[in-house]
Amino acid sequence: MPHQHPALTTEQKKELSSIAQRIVAPGKGILAADESTGSMAKRMSSIGVDNTEEHRRYYRQILFQGTEKVKEYIGGIIFFHETLYQKTDDGSTFVKLIKDKGIIPGIKVDLGVVPLAGTSGETTTQGLDGLNERCAQYKKDGADFAKWRCVLKITDTTPSALAIMENANVLARYASICQQNCIVPIVEPEILPDGAHDLKRCQHVTEKVLAAVYKALSDHHIYLEGTLLKPNMVTPGHSCTQKYSSEEIAMATVTALRRTVPPAVPGITFLSGGQSEEEASINLNAINKCPLHKPWALTFSYGRALQASALKAWSGKKEQTKAAEAEFIKRAEANGLAAQGKYTATEQAGAAAGQSLFIAGHAY
Ligand code: 13P
Repeated sequence: MPHQHPALTTEQKKELSSIAQRIVAPGKGILAADESTGSMAKRMSSIGVDNTEEHRRYYRQILFQGTEKVKEYIGGIIFFHETLYQKTDDGSTFVKLIKDKGIIPGIKVDLGVVPLAGTSGETTTQGLDGLNERCAQYKKDGADFAKWRCVLKITDTTPSALAIMENANVLARYASICQQNCIVPIVEPEILPDGAHDLKRCQHVTEKVLAAVYKALSDHHIYLEGTLLKPNMVTPGHSCTQKYSSEEIAMATVTALRRTVPPAVPGITFLSGGQSEEEASINLNAINKCPLHKPWALTFSYGRALQASALKAWSGKKEQTKAAEAEFIKRAEANGLAAQGKYTATEQAGAAAGQSLFIAGHAY
């Protein structure tokens, strides 16, 4: 039997689990606003706006100020490095703005995906060098949780055993460094929706990937009560010709999670992965209504599905600020209700609500 060396003090464990639980308190989820400068370039170009630092600041200010009206639905916001140090028009930091509303600031700490040589276009995620020092600084600067995104692809030959093992291990190593700094790690092994595979195939791959992730987290002595999981929902591939109901998607998703995610994990915060705003809300609602025992909070950590209508409404025009804020509020409310299984479709539809947000080979 291996001997156990304690990795965290009782106080650290208490702090980590309390942060995780506050983020996923009933009806609360996460706003993922951590698009890198490169991803923001794509978002801004879709509305014909230059990707300047001021435009990025102004747009994010709309979202963060909008949380005043939906703070009961937003437990945490994930920032990109630049955003963590930006300020509102009146000079208060974004960190203070959201903390004053009881929302917990988080930070994206990975440095993007890189090729795994010798595989069929598979990747791992970089950013471990210096991560301990960066986490220590981010904690001082107000971040209490972090995100690291790994990416896996479904094709006839992938994900390979190497990609599954390498991405599980790098997620565990990241989680370990975060916890040493009292930062709750969001563990994100995203399986991309690209492909023509059916629901069953996605469920099978999701189960294999999550099982590998939780084995690696155990090997690295991760304190599961102080973590959150950010998975894809189990959905058919984007170009699959067979259609499935939200109940079928919910059943496949909850089944995969029940087979692989320990009940010690306090919350599962789904990414939206190119679903339309409405689809992402309807599927989350169905997941919460799924008639299986669900020992974790099941909620959202959406980027595109919380922002598409708001971004479109803003379109770089100052006079559209209130309209953009209203669109964001609609989606936050819809998803807060969906996280409790109380959302009724179409009630909240906005400017881009039905529009597919799929991007092939999505990078963040
Ligand atoms: P989407 O909800 O747009 O998929 O993004 C969430 C995210 O944070 C991916 O890392």
